[in-house]
Amino acid sequence: MSIEMDKVKIGVIGLGRLGMVHTEHLVTLISDAEVIAVCAVDKEQLMFAEENFGVTTYDDYKKMIDEAPIDAVVIVAPTGFHPEMTEYALNAGKHVFCEKPLGLEMPEVEDMATQINAHSDLVFQLGFMRRFDASYRHAKEIIDANGIGDIIYIRAYGIDPISGMESFTKFATDNDSGGIFVDMCIHDIDLIRWYTGMDPVETWAVGNDIAAPQLKAIGEFETGVATLRFENNMVATLIGGRHAAHGNQVEMEIMGSNGWIRIAQEPEKDFVTLFTNAGVVRPSMQSFSERFEEAFITELKDFIVNVKTNCQSDISVDDGIKALKIAKACKVSAETGDVVKIEL
Ligand code: NAD
Repeated sequence: MSIEMDKVKIGVIGLGRLGMVHTEHLVTLISDAEVIAVCAVDKEQLMFAEENFGVTTYDDYKKMIDEAPIDAVVIVAPTGFHPEMTEYALNAGKHVFCEKPLGLEMPEVEDMATQINAHSDLVFQLGFMRRFDASYRHAKEIIDANGIGDIIYIRAYGIDPISGMESFTKFATDNDSGGIFVDMCIHDIDLIRWYTGMDPVETWAVGNDIAAPQLKAIGEFETGVATLRFENNMVATLIGGRHAAHGNQVEMEIMGSNGWIRIAQEPEKDFVTLFTNAGVVRPSMQSFSERFEEAFITELKDFIVNVKTNCQSDISVDDGIKALKIAKACKVSAETGDVVKIEL
């Protein structure tokens, strides 16, 4: 098969906060990939990509998939478009990398899963990039080697910096983000399932807009907190938000019967400590793209290898569906105040 020898030819859909990052990585760092075409509805983004990456641009993703000589699409458009774009690409014989979450509404996501399973000859990979982060992988190795005993409790923070509030507000105004649990906490839900090998059975969640009242108008909770109970009474607390004054706070604590793991307690930018008349300061990371740069690159490299070797991703569509159902149960609980049973 020629694809084993050649570069994988890619069309990227979406050139916003993350799409531009993925495109730049594919163009500059991933030698086995070649970005042939990009698609977006923002004209300035298309012009930037044409000038800087020398790619053909489209404002209609179907046209790009139909016309451009590509093997695969990388979908980084707003979440509500993921199901239709995935299905169109698969039906055109293209491999698909799709950003998280799979989608927003369960019926269309279930149809999307049916299509993905029906095209088992094509690679489908979901963008749970934290599974490619070196620290989360290290923690997984410790847990799997029984290094902290049985897991009792997990606490996970996923809190964007206040400096990102403007771009988040634009993102969530232009399109439905899915809300704090579906858009943000879904990463930690996936990690918790990956680490424990278990699914939660019920959740109780609360949301508020104390730190950003303007988000109420677009139906977003700025902060969301969910408690997940598992069958064996293992408990996890998810804390999602958009208000961290100091930077990008993505932290996890895993308490075991014989030890604890903490990942990224403080979002240090590097090893620099600054001593000035302002005191002793550890500068912090300011964005998800900075914190997860290596993971974003590694997951795309993994996708390219999977396409070239015709191998399905370790992250299954079932992982995507279960994480989405759990996140949606948290959302329902936060909106109703009820404890919600999780049916998977
Ligand atoms: P964004 O709003 O910044 O950019 C969206 C892009 O999609 C824009 O280029 C826009 O022109 C394009 N677009 C919109 N509608 C389109 C259409 N109908 N056809 C073609 N292109 C269209 O969004 P973003 O923040 O980059 O998020 C995009 C996706 O990436 C979302 O699903 C989000 O959940 C996901 N994301 C994941 C992570 C992560 O940590 N893995 C981080 C950020 C975003």
